[in-house]
Amino acid sequence: MNKLEKFQIITGGIVLLTGLHIGAGKEVVEIGGIDNPVVKNPLTGFPYIPGSSLKGKMRCLLELKEKKYTDKGGPCNCGNCDICRTFGNTNKDSKDITRVLFRDAFLSDDSVKKLSEKELLSTEEKTENTVDRLTGTALHPRTTERVIAGLAFDFEIALRVFENDGDTCLNLIKEGMSLLEKDTLGGSGSRGYGKIEFKSLKLDGKDFSLNGERGQV
Ligand SMILES: [Zn+2]
Repeated sequence: MNKLEKFQIITGGIVLLTGLHIGAGKEVVEIGGIDNPVVKNPLTGFPYIPGSSLKGKMRCLLELKEKKYTDKGGPCNCGNCDICRTFGNTNKDSKDITRVLFRDAFLSDDSVKKLSEKELLSTEEKTENTVDRLTGTALHPRTTERVIAGLAFDFEIALRVFENDGDTCLNLIKEGMSLLEKDTLGGSGSRGYGKIEFKSLKLDGKDFSLNGERGQV
């Protein structure tokens, strides 16, 4: 087992270019509330982006690109590839330690200020339905809550760098971020939700950008 050499910390903002829906699950549906609420910080009442959502989507996109997933569509668990090493795996033959830690991303101070100045709510309710093909009428209306476009969240990703790791995990994460900007975060991405952009990126306090990362998809 190699020794832990250092941590590398990526920080920055996640800007919502379109409304974001990361569901809170059915157990927290409020009485008389909407069908599909978003996750919120119970202390502040503001929505947040769980680290698990960022991690899961980024891993999924990287696995699609590298064709690293199980026949059933589950995450790669070979225990041997860069994706397993970086994101973690439960393969009993692997003694590797997960390299990347995604923190929950909370609403930025700027966004909180903007909301209070403009007297806006952080989320909106959107009614969606399916359309009857023959009559053109709406069927099964459901209300979905989404975080409004234009808000930004502060995020942090920490990388554990072990001896001999080099930049492998860092490059994979940068590529994952680049793919995530092209794809979507959260639910209903094919219907316009969840387009995001990373901004003000810093690696250990120094500016960097995602331009020129591999990942030509
Ligand atoms: Zn693997």
